[in-house]
Formats: sequence, structure tokens, C-alpha cells
Amino acid sequence: MMKKIFVTHDLPGEYEEKLKKRFEVKVWGKRDISRRDLLREVGGVDGIVSLLTEKIDREVMEAAGENLRVVSNYAVGFDNVDVKTATERGIVVTNTPGVLTEAVAEHVIALMLAVARNIVRGDDFVREGKYRGWEPDLLVGQSMRGKTMGVVGLGSIGKWTARLAKGMGMEVIYNSRTRNEEFEMIEDARYVSLNQLLKEADVVSLNVPLTAETEGMIGKKELKLMKETSILVNTARGRVMVEKDLVEALKKGWIWGAGLDVFDDEEHVSEELRKLERVVLTPHIASATMEARLMMAKIVYKAIMDVFSGRKPEAMVNPEAWGKKIG
Ligand code: NAP
Repeated sequence: MMKKIFVTHDLPGEYEEKLKKRFEVKVWGKRDISRRDLLREVGGVDGIVSLLTEKIDREVMEAAGENLRVVSNYAVGFDNVDVKTATERGIVVTNTPGVLTEAVAEHVIALMLAVARNIVRGDDFVREGKYRGWEPDLLVGQSMRGKTMGVVGLGSIGKWTARLAKGMGMEVIYNSRTRNEEFEMIEDARYVSLNQLLKEADVVSLNVPLTAETEGMIGKKELKLMKETSILVNTARGRVMVEKDLVEALKKGWIWGAGLDVFDDEEHVSEELRKLERVVLTPHIASATMEARLMMAKIVYKAIMDVFSGRKPEAMVNPEAWGKKIG
């Protein structure tokens, strides 16, 4: 009997069609799937391709039933999946690492420059018909050459962000769970404590995953350590920061500005945040390049193919689950 795969959203490129050649595939389409529909649709499936906006928890796994062998998450982050329960149940969880690294790091730099150089405010200014000719003190921003980029979380995205920042003539300091002396040597980066980084950096880029340790790691106390001229960029996950503290920091001028791609509540971005001027907000599009999306679809497809061909998928986040049901 053909294995059943439920895909919660259209996939780009030819990968949906490729899956259909080998499996019985149902694709939900372009619309968001409601929790109720998700619980119904997963009934009896062998594999789920999920988005980071869908909570794949015990309830979903139970609704899917005993056949469920793989959850292939169309994202690098997998905090939407209850990996512990999946592992207990022998369900392989995969993500899409590596292929969106450059896209996200480019977005960090784009947000940094958009804030530093008033790009969005300038665009609004022209569109609103307010521009009447060059003025020496119109929307004056900050230059980045010679400034210090502070990377929090020196993983794939953090490293590429550091390299791009260096290319712009910035110094790089970083803090991460694991010190990387080879990277320090090659890229001339300096390891510092988180507090030191916050005190020294002109731009702080958050690049850690959302975990129990990183949740709320940047709050009032940390924001108060930052320079009044500094810019905070968050492309990691909204809850790595305490958003209301960031609003306070921006209102009270503890920091200069912020570039945010991720939020506490992504369905209802805080009104207070939306009112602030020196803030650039993007709707979780840091990885949204045609190239990255296609590669993500390829990895998701490959993970499903691997699991049902008895091969361990490369992008497996819970290797302990391998062999519990399959292998
Ligand atoms: P990664 O390669 O796993 O890097 C994460 C880094 O964070 C690792 O170096 C890790 O340290 C470090 N880290 C983990 N916990 C830490 C802690 N408590 N304190 C300090 N450092 C810690 O992941 P990545 O590919 O760079 O992605 C990072 C995150 O970006 C993802 O988890 C995801 O949430 C987010 N993301 C967002 C978008 C978007 O569209 N906005 C797209 C992709 C990813 P070790 O080296 O010790 O493991």
C-alpha cells in the first residue's frame, strides 16, 4: 500500500509532483490550515510536511496515529515540533538547515542598513510627496564602517552575518554557547561574554534558536547595557527577546533602533511596536528568496524519500528516534 503524506502548504518547484510519484499525497494548498483541519487531515498518515506556524505536538501525533514515521519541517527552526514526544514515539523529525543561511544573513544586513540609513522612512517620505529637494540634515543616519557587529549565537547564520559585516568594514565580536577559536582566527572575530557584547556592539544580531535557555535572553537588564546609538536586529525568534522591554528601550532611547523579522505574536504584531519610528519590521521573510525556498523544498522532499527508503535523512534533528520504528 502506498504511504500517505500530508503536506500542509504548497511546495515550490517540482517537489510536490515528485512526491506524488511515490506516495499518496494530499497538499492543503495556499491557505493557512486551522488546528481543527490539521487534526483531521493527519489521521492515518505516514508522513507530515509542516510549516513553522503549525504546532506539531502530542495531540497531532496522536491524531495521526501509529503509522506516523516522519515530520519534515519546512524551516530551520523546529521549536513548533514537540521533538521529545516525537522521539518517544519513534517519529523522525527533520528540518532544512544550511540552505537559507546566506539568505537570512543578508536579511540581517538589510535590516541593519534599513534602520541605520532610514531606508523605509525615506521611502515613505518620497511616496507621501514630502520630498522637495536635497537637505543636509534630512533623515541623517549612521555609517557602519568601523562599527562593531555583535553576533549572539555563532551558528551557520551567525557566521555568515559576521562575514558580511566584515566585508562592510565592521569589527566582529560574538557570544555563543560554544567558543569557536578557529573561526576567531580565520575571521578575526573576538569572543566576549554576552554582557560585554551588549556593552560594546553597535549592532547586535540575535542568531540563537529558541530554547528554554534562550527564551527571553534579551530583556530590560540586557537592553540597558546596550549603547544609546546601537541597533538591535532579531531574525531568530520573537520570544528570544522580551518584546515589551524592547518597546520601552526604544521609547526611552536606551537603544537607537531595531530591525525585526520575528515577533512575540506573529499573527498580531504589537501595535506599540508598529508605531515606533526607528524600527523596521518585516513579516518573517528573512529566508524568503526564490533560491532558498526551492532548496528547502528539495530537502523536505529528500527527507521523506530517505525515511521511506530506509536511509537516515541528513537533516534529522532527533537521531535517537532512528531505529525505534525504522532503520
Ligand atoms: P545553528 O547553526 O544551529 O546556530 C545556532 C547557534 O546558536 C549555535 O552556534 C548554538 O551554539 C548557539 N546557541 C544555542 N543555544 C545558545 C545559548 N543558550 N546561548 C548562546 N548561544 C546558543 O542555527 P542557524 O541555522 O544559524 O539558525 C539560527 C536560528 O535562526 C534558528 O534556530 C531559527 O530560529 C532562526 N531562523 C530564522 C529564520 C527567519 O526566517 N527569520 C530563518 C532561519 C532561521 P552551539 O554551537 O553550541 O550549538
